[in-house]
Amino acid sequence: MIPYVREIKFEYGVCDQVSPLIRRVVANNPGPFTYLGTGTYIVGRGEVAVIDPGPDLDAHLEAILAALEPGETVSHILVTHHHSDHSPLAEPLKARTGAPIYGCAVGQQAAASTVITEAGHDLDFTPDIDLCGGGMVLSGPGWTLEAIATPGHTSNHICFALKEENALFSGDHIMGWSTTVVSPPDGDMTAYMESLDLVKARGFDVLWPTHGPPVTEVTPFIEAYIAHRRAREAQVVAQLVEGRTPAEGERITGPGWTLRAFATPGHTANHLCFVLEEENALFSGDHIMGWSTTVVSPPDGDMTAYLESLDLVKARGFEILWPTHGPPVTEVTPFIEAYIAHRRAREAQVVAQLAEGRRRIKDMIPILYKDVDSRLHPAAARSVLGHMIDLVKRGKVSSPDATPGLDSDYSLVSP
Ligand SMILES: [Zn+2]
Ligand SMILES: [Zn+2]
Repeated sequence: MIPYVREIKFEYGVCDQVSPLIRRVVANNPGPFTYLGTGTYIVGRGEVAVIDPGPDLDAHLEAILAALEPGETVSHILVTHHHSDHSPLAEPLKARTGAPIYGCAVGQQAAASTVITEAGHDLDFTPDIDLCGGGMVLSGPGWTLEAIATPGHTSNHICFALKEENALFSGDHIMGWSTTVVSPPDGDMTAYMESLDLVKARGFDVLWPTHGPPVTEVTPFIEAYIAHRRAREAQVVAQLVEGRTPAEGERITGPGWTLRAFATPGHTANHLCFVLEEENALFSGDHIMGWSTTVVSPPDGDMTAYLESLDLVKARGFEILWPTHGPPVTEVTPFIEAYIAHRRAREAQVVAQLAEGRRRIKDMIPILYKDVDSRLHPAAARSVLGHMIDLVKRGKVSSPDATPGLDSDYSLVSP
């Protein structure tokens, strides 16, 4: 169980001093994703930073300006990410104060996303000063803020550490009242979990999320947050394992997303891809990878099944593949065709070796893989074995052994 914190005392539009250096004004935009509304933080005295100005509401802009003491100025406008409950008021606030906007620009995935998550994407968000990747330190009189890249909720999410109070403005990365939406493609669960570890390792005394009250039991809270995700992952895996028809497995759904298991044996006998129906996308695991070919190593790997699985995926006409390793594949059909052609070319080379009288895999490897680092030759031999078993199954090659192996004798079956 996550030890949620939901108790918060405030009045919309009224500024509260919540720590020696931090003031907060809550915008009147409650909702299922914003809890009671967007908490805008004002950091420092005299020259202040404003974190996440919030939604484009005139009343909230006036409330932020009214929160300033006479003579006080805004020197920095900081934005954690581009969602509509965080960034749209940055430009109007800049127009009124002259302060530049700091943040990380909207990622390509977000711009391309057709699925509206939370209050929506503020695709017009354009920071004056780029914080992508984190690391930049910003300061004013008596306050120091460090930008920390925390991708996951969105690819451009930035948290801000307040050095003087060992505090973190955690945006939507970690929220006390709820878990966070991680919706692909702009959301990324792998990055999200890494960002949780990163924040945990820093040992902050307090987290100030955009929505809801501060989190003061930081380490146990983050650990429960991580445990919650791992438990959810285990549930998803259990659902898949229980799937009665893995080829078109049970639908797994959440708010706005539908995943369907897609059996793709070959790399391993149990390999599953997952179809994200809303985006005609496939999470292709290790079945198809943009950066490399896949290892198909018998007995768990099966070249016959692998090539069939490639055909199956190709036939579905996905718009994009998201492999486990490396960037997405967007030219899906040509890519899969080249992948298949590569395997067929390798098969033809194996057949040519047999035709030339080489009957053992170990005699073929130095020739077939002469341009490949010899440390990879054992893996290559397993890949050739994969082809050999496939050729035996198809009746093109024979072997005296009941179970053809690395040391078996092979010969071409004359047509
Ligand atoms: Zn958000
Ligand atoms: Zn939010």
